[in-house]
Amino acid sequence: MMLEQDKTYLIDLDGTMYQGDTVIPEALEFIEYLQRNHISYQFVTNNAMRTPKEIMEKMHSMGFRSLKETDFFTSAMAAISHMKKTSTATHVFFIGEEGLRQAILRGGYVIDETAAQLVFVGLDTHADYSLYCKAARCIRERHALLIGTNSDRCIPQRDHFLIGNGAILQMLAYATEAKCITIGKPNAIMMEEVLAYLGKTRHDCVVLGDNLETDIAFAKNNGVKSILVCSGVHTQADAERFSITPDLMVDSLHDLLIK
Ligand SMILES: [Mg+2]
Repeated sequence: MMLEQDKTYLIDLDGTMYQGDTVIPEALEFIEYLQRNHISYQFVTNNAMRTPKEIMEKMHSMGFRSLKETDFFTSAMAAISHMKKTSTATHVFFIGEEGLRQAILRGGYVIDETAAQLVFVGLDTHADYSLYCKAARCIRERHALLIGTNSDRCIPQRDHFLIGNGAILQMLAYATEAKCITIGKPNAIMMEEVLAYLGKTRHDCVVLGDNLETDIAFAKNNGVKSILVCSGVHTQADAERFSITPDLMVDSLHDLLIK
């Protein structure tokens, strides 16, 4: 078996467990296998739009079983946890959806545009020009810190792509001439936060994902083992092109279960 009993698998979601709203069938079998064999896992996602409960419900509706809210660690959770440790700020402004809003409130922050010391930016598919201007004013006029839940350039779809949060973040940084703090994969802050959440060390974990630039770079930048599954964004040929080499590459999660 290619899986190690005593490791915790840090598993990506989109492209690894499902593609948008469609489950990857091998993922159901894979998670069931981990559960049956008491191999621990943690879903680690750059997506800050949904709450852990919402992701859990989405995956249960796809056929996954016995998932818990605590199985999910999002870039929104990492962003809040990191800023609580490194800043005394109490008032914030944000661009984002429910996952980020809930993480902010759970962090005990007051959401107040007129007194914001921090501006959190996660993807918000309904955000408009006036919201971007409000965020920019908090940063430029009140010197609020700019924090991005992730630096994803784009979100690949089957036959097109969508603009990612990293591009929005760069727009705000450009407009305000501010530096931004970025949290999600492949950044070190995300690894520090997920390890702290789990109470594990980097040697205890293996990253499993479909994206070389986020998942595999996340592992390599932080001294963690990695497995690339070619069910999503990148192929084995891409690994050579990017010069990012995972410890293991498989075409499908099913390949990891072959004894
Ligand atoms: Mg992915």
